Amino acid sequence: MAGQEIDALLLSVGADLPYFTGYRAMGLERLTMLVLPGKGTATLVVPAFEAPRVEARPEAFAVHPWEEAEDPVQVVADLCGPSRRLAVGDQTWSTFLLGLQERLPRTAFVTASPLTRELRMRKGPEEVELLRRAGAAVDRVVDRLDRHAFAGKSERRLAAEVAAMTVEEGHEAATFSIVASGPNGASPHHEAGDRVIGEGDAVVLDFGGRLAGYCSDTTRTFFVGEPPDRFLDAFAAVRAAQQAGVEAAAPGVPAEEVDRAARRVIAEAGYGDCFVHRTGHGIGLEEHEHPYVVEGNPERLEPGMAFSVEPGVYLPGEFGVRIEDVVVVAAAGAERLNLSSRDLHLVG
Ligand code: ZN
Ligand code: ZN
Ligand code: ZN
Repeated sequence: MAGQEIDALLLSVGADLPYFTGYRAMGLERLTMLVLPGKGTATLVVPAFEAPRVEARPEAFAVHPWEEAEDPVQVVADLCGPSRRLAVGDQTWSTFLLGLQERLPRTAFVTASPLTRELRMRKGPEEVELLRRAGAAVDRVVDRLDRHAFAGKSERRLAAEVAAMTVEEGHEAATFSIVASGPNGASPHHEAGDRVIGEGDAVVLDFGGRLAGYCSDTTRTFFVGEPPDRFLDAFAAVRAAQQAGVEAAAPGVPAEEVDRAARRVIAEAGYGDCFVHRTGHGIGLEEHEHPYVVEGNPERLEPGMAFSVEPGVYLPGEFGVRIEDVVVVAAAGAERLNLSSRDLHLVG
């Protein structure tokens, strides 16, 4: 902060706040904001009636509860005082930032992530252990799905079942479950709908939850009945690409090299135009965070960095294939945090 002449960090909704305090702000219209100055005491400004949710840690930060008739933006402005530069959490609501800019007209405002990502990107052993536990929990869901009935169910119903299993296996909440069957699989972020899954459908299942604050995220591809050769060919390309991506990840390797390694395999198999998204994203307190595994990101991988490797092939009107594991970089290379079978999952 001193190096970038930042007087204070202002953290509201988003994962920076729980990273530093253990407290996740409610994403509502009442302001919650940590004022973390470069020098001196940090203060968490929080609606008075939500203050009981905060686990007190007086050695780390003071709590300033504000009453319903108070102006919390003014409370924050007063805590900041005359400042050269304030760094604001990226997901802070514009209504609060605009209010602060009005009250502190001589202050420059910048985004907090260039600072906070440097810390959050490098996971400590306790964080890695939580990601590992979350990964093992979604792996158990995949194992259960191998014995699960798919045919005759709507995507929406299967998504609800997957979400329930995600909680049963140890997450505090399921955060998403993409169920994309048949031609819907060609849309990577398809929202589960009313389509009924039937014989001859490929089903891309991408889901995860949150365990002790940390996210899981895995994708496996299932097939109902006997898969045709055209599908098996695309599946083999994705499986090999995912392997190549994981093998490419090691300390010192630029993040974009992992993307290139996976993409090369898919291009050589003739599906280059059908892999329409980056290879992966960092994961931690957020489902998507730094580092991003994408062409144009030369950031070098370091031990403790955790991210997904999730290549896919999408054939519009036909089907999709995706395989996704979260990995964490260790001294010798990447350790997979998802260990369920990456083979095609045949179901009924
Ligand atoms: Zn995604
Ligand atoms: Zn995913
Ligand atoms: Zn992902």
